[in-house]
Amino acid sequence: MNAYDSRKMADVLIPMGYKEVTEAEGADMIILNTCHIREKATEKVFSELGRLKKHKKQAEAEGRKMLMAVAGCVAQAEGDFIAERAPYVDMVFGPQSFGTLPEMVAKATGAYGKERVIHTEFLEEDKFDKLPQETTADGATAFIAVQEGCDKFCTFCVVPYTRGGEYSRRSQAILDEVKSLRDQGVREISFLGQNVNAYHGLDTDGNDVSLAQLMMQAADIDGIERLRYTTSHPRDMQDDLIEAHAHPKVMPYLHLPVQSGSNKILKAMNRKHERDLYFELIEKFRNVRPDMAISGDFIVGFPGETDADFADTMDLIKIIKYSSAYSFKYSQRPGTPAATMGGLIREEVKNERLYELQALLAQQMRDFNEQTVGKTIPVLFDGVTDSGQLHGRTEYNQAIHLKGNARLNGHIEDVLITGTNGKSLDGDIVIKDVA
Ligand code: SAH
Ligand code: SF4
Repeated sequence: MNAYDSRKMADVLIPMGYKEVTEAEGADMIILNTCHIREKATEKVFSELGRLKKHKKQAEAEGRKMLMAVAGCVAQAEGDFIAERAPYVDMVFGPQSFGTLPEMVAKATGAYGKERVIHTEFLEEDKFDKLPQETTADGATAFIAVQEGCDKFCTFCVVPYTRGGEYSRRSQAILDEVKSLRDQGVREISFLGQNVNAYHGLDTDGNDVSLAQLMMQAADIDGIERLRYTTSHPRDMQDDLIEAHAHPKVMPYLHLPVQSGSNKILKAMNRKHERDLYFELIEKFRNVRPDMAISGDFIVGFPGETDADFADTMDLIKIIKYSSAYSFKYSQRPGTPAATMGGLIREEVKNERLYELQALLAQQMRDFNEQTVGKTIPVLFDGVTDSGQLHGRTEYNQAIHLKGNARLNGHIEDVLITGTNGKSLDGDIVIKDVA
């Protein structure tokens, strides 16, 4: 989501004459886009600001104006603190307000008398209306935010506070964005949202559109070959989305976080479901696509997590068999209900559990990758590595590297999978019979 937001910030600034650069050196503006999801976020922002400050000094020494901004969820949560501790920062704005960057930049550069800009109000209703409808594509794959914010209030999570309540974009605006990206060569779209399957946007007639319906409309757009969505919540999973996976353009890959396999911990986390619901959902997906690749998120060391609770998580992982997953040590977030819970878990116990859990997940990733060796699967090539190899993704979202003509970048080709190092695949492009 932050990568998407950064892209959009660049697109908002282009009409003002700005152009994205990859080096801070010599830039006219530096925007530090930040994430607040886990600990040390604020400290990281200050250390990064300390590092970037020299570019502002350099600009001043050269008689140039340089703007420095902190954007994103740390800015949202700690705006005043940042403004106070980093007086050289000209703009501080949350993830809801960057559509107003032109006004903010005008203020900060002194068009109406130079002033510092602190903008952390929630404007979610019109956030997307203020953004340019055109997104600049960067390769064959692209993200589109369809939904933002969250009303779930899991007890460990800052998202409902930093990104605000759930909000869905209108379906036509999304489909127009899909077409514009398609025109720029994009073949694969990932629909994004903190709770993407809670999507319920309105169509032009004012009717509710589900994520599954939106995906089917996107699938009808010529040139779009692959559709994905992330991240889903088990409680919002509807049958129409599960059934959408029967469509050849909807990829056989699901990212469905569960966080814990213990009913006690799920309750303490306020996840609003038990482990059985998770098993039922995965079974339904596998009934539609037996080869479905399943990914998830896990938190170890939530307050009160006993060895038995952790064993339940390990057991759930063994039953599901993941193709990939993200896992984290519980991190106390200020202002969340879990931050004041008793039963804190010692750091070394968290470390041990994370190690054990990641070893199991790494083994499952290896197993998943190994069972694709020897098969021929379509790969979308989406880049060239520094060593000149083509980089691509299978339908199951596995990464693959191989030697091939750079002209294949942006194309989908059948690839015979020849091996794996456990994490990514090797393969040979299957030469089509032209006769
Ligand atoms: N909406 C998604 C998750 C968004 S946050 C969902 O409900 O699943 C992305 C991931 O960060 C979460 O799935 C969780 O695993 C992790 N995370 C969020 N807050 C955390 C915290 N306080 N400590 C550790 N991990 C956290
Ligand atoms: Fe955070 Fe996801 Fe829970 Fe929402 S559903 S509060 S984003 S973890």
